[in-house]
Amino acid sequence: MRKVSGLIVAAFVLLFGVGANSAQASAYDGKPKLVVILVLDQFRGDYLDRYRADFKAENGFNLFLKKGAYFPQCYYGYANTMTAPGHSTIGTGAYTNGHNIGVNEWWDLSRSKTAMVSSVQDADYPLLGASTEAELGASPRNELASTLGDEVVLSTGGKARLFGVSLKDRAAILTSGHASQGAYWIEHATGKWESSTYWMKDLPEWVKAFNSSDAIARARKEAGIPGGDFYERVGATPTGVQYELDFTKALVKAEKLGTHDVTDVLTLSISSTDILGHAVGPDSPEQRKLLDAIDVQLNDFFDFLNTHVDGGLANVWVSLTGDHGVATSPVNSAKEGMPASVFPYGAMTAELNKELDAKLTPGKATRFVLGGDLPYVQIDDGSFAAEKMDERSAESMVAEMIPGALAAAQQGQFPTPDSRTLRPSTVRHVYTKAQMAAGDLPNTEEGQLLLHSYTTNGGWWVYLTPGLTNVPAGHGGMGTGHFSPYNYDRHVPLAFFGSPFVHGTYLEHAEPVDIAATFAALLGVNRPSACVGRAVTEAIRREDGGSNTAPAH
Ligand SMILES: [Zn+2]
Repeated sequence: MRKVSGLIVAAFVLLFGVGANSAQASAYDGKPKLVVILVLDQFRGDYLDRYRADFKAENGFNLFLKKGAYFPQCYYGYANTMTAPGHSTIGTGAYTNGHNIGVNEWWDLSRSKTAMVSSVQDADYPLLGASTEAELGASPRNELASTLGDEVVLSTGGKARLFGVSLKDRAAILTSGHASQGAYWIEHATGKWESSTYWMKDLPEWVKAFNSSDAIARARKEAGIPGGDFYERVGATPTGVQYELDFTKALVKAEKLGTHDVTDVLTLSISSTDILGHAVGPDSPEQRKLLDAIDVQLNDFFDFLNTHVDGGLANVWVSLTGDHGVATSPVNSAKEGMPASVFPYGAMTAELNKELDAKLTPGKATRFVLGGDLPYVQIDDGSFAAEKMDERSAESMVAEMIPGALAAAQQGQFPTPDSRTLRPSTVRHVYTKAQMAAGDLPNTEEGQLLLHSYTTNGGWWVYLTPGLTNVPAGHGGMGTGHFSPYNYDRHVPLAFFGSPFVHGTYLEHAEPVDIAATFAALLGVNRPSACVGRAVTEAIRREDGGSNTAPAH
């Protein structure tokens, strides 16, 4: 039904020219003043349909659902469904094998033997505005591809303004890219906005003013959270979203985004849906309430853009998507009879280390398995090399041991079979890095996803596909997570708003890599260096004012 009604509206636009932006007849010469790449973190592809009746604001999610081009069948084309690769993929239009960001953080023993490094950590560029850990630094050094924003800046000889904002560093940095004038995110403990010397010598006055205003105190008061970690606590509430949007408004005003002769680009990733989602799961009333609040907050934000961009919203193009989906909370899943479990990652790596030590270096308590962010299980190349093992043999040994070690780690924990409670975790497939590098993968859908999940980061590792709804989940299994190749983790919405797009709901397969490809095509700039997406031509108005959509669509 929805598709049909979308088509009727689209037909209306064709016949009578009453689209939201009918003033601009041609998509191809109508360069916008501002492109906004909007991301909601942990925004599963079914939310917009599931809660559609809740969305009352005219220009909140309805900007996309009632005036834009909406693709509910959008899936990531790789298996490593995590935040850092998701944002990099949205910005670059490439998969992990193109931009090389595999996970949020990983062990790099050449840089640290005691802590993982984050995907954006770079000690060469100290943090600005941070009262703690400034020396860790940040930059897009690990992102080995250009972004849509980078290409717009390059094509305008540096005239276009490009900025990235998020509560999370990786989401602000990897989506906007290398050539921006600034990426901004918050220090977790205090909520203060920070950046790094990669982009600037010192924070601009307007950022300092924002940090020294009463914005943080007001946010804490409104959220009823006087103390504790700002990111974890205030960040999980609608107040956290508003705090982020207020900063973004200050940025738009200070940098006069959308008022230049060339197209400016803003990437904005709302983190709160992920912070809350990990704690309560996708089906909780709290998550629904947060989405309803964001609907109203986005309406307000787009109203703001309407008054601050030259020519208003008619000169703004916006894409909306998520960086990954999420699994149903294991407890809720199990209640319905699904084979769900809380994946005991720490216990599994401890068991692997115990067994490997007994086998290779009895009594020495050697650390062979490092762990790190799933779906990659990192191993210590030095420990294996000391035992005269090369990468291929070390990874193969660990891959073969994983199912048994996982079973051993759960021994005796599930004595009575019960189809309605949590079950033992299982592993479906394990592949080695050497195998993935050589493309030695099964000729299956999963094999294709894995080819796209290859990264050179993280030394030696194996990749694992867990059983269905097997996630490391806190809160007794009420919390949840994401990292698998399953559709619930790969499914996110995709939607466009702006003069080139013919309103409607499009059931074609789409992917987040299509965002960069579509905007690059419409703006007439080079596709980002490793972009593999397609322009969504079925939703783009033709130069003669018609639609490219086939009549039978
Ligand atoms: Zn995320």
